Amino acid sequence: MTALEDRPEVRTPGEGGVPLTTEPRAPRATAGHVDSSAPAFTPDTDPLDVIRWALAAHPDLLMPSAFNLNGVVLLDLAARAGYRGEVVFVDTGFHFPETLATRDRLAARYPEMTFVTLHEGAHPEDGQTPPDLYASDPDACCAVRKVAPLQAYLREKAPSALLNARSRDQAATRADIPFVEAGSARVKINPLAHWTRERLEAYAREHDLPVNPLYWDGFLSVGCWTCTRAVRPGEDARAGRWAGKGKTECGLWAGENRL
Ligand code: SF4
Repeated sequence: MTALEDRPEVRTPGEGGVPLTTEPRAPRATAGHVDSSAPAFTPDTDPLDVIRWALAAHPDLLMPSAFNLNGVVLLDLAARAGYRGEVVFVDTGFHFPETLATRDRLAARYPEMTFVTLHEGAHPEDGQTPPDLYASDPDACCAVRKVAPLQAYLREKAPSALLNARSRDQAATRADIPFVEAGSARVKINPLAHWTRERLEAYAREHDLPVNPLYWDGFLSVGCWTCTRAVRPGEDARAGRWAGKGKTECGLWAGENRL
């Protein structure tokens, strides 16, 4: 499948009234990636306090986003904390129209931020790569369509820190992320590290945030339509990403080329 109109039909999982659920995990001990120069935040620290600290410590902070539930909540919190920087989105050429519409709704809602869409990566129709590279080599596909353009942009902008929306209960691979994560190139600030999906949903509803409508159809984590399915009851929030491909992360936040 290479054309958007061939994308799989969006279906709601949990037929028969079985509710979707991803049980929050108990926080585990933070392992080895904490920025020791950061304050001694606790799991109960308000994400707003983490963002305010980050804005003071890293005024050149920059926020990449894919506009998932976590990202939308983080955007709203960042706006309340005073973030006025860029929100950077990578257009792979494979995004759901609902995702692009969510981006546009957010840009209209938060005019105090600058929404940047990067188109510089390899696209399905530009002849640089096989359009169905996602099927034959999804790691290479993410590398050229998603990771490379964002890495290039970050080299140009050179922020000292990134504001990131990951949370521990999204997947086993994220179960240990700290609020402030050291990195060789830049610090990653993860204000939502300890928030559960239920808490994020409650916040989004309370503040009437423009969540990607696919989320409420069971797409708890939305990426390219070629590599995303709805989550089944009891699965991790990210279980619908690259399902059956032995891949759990795109490479932006894990792996040797991580941001
Ligand atoms: S999510 Fe899929 S289509 Fe999108 S860049 Fe990664 S492998 Fe390619």
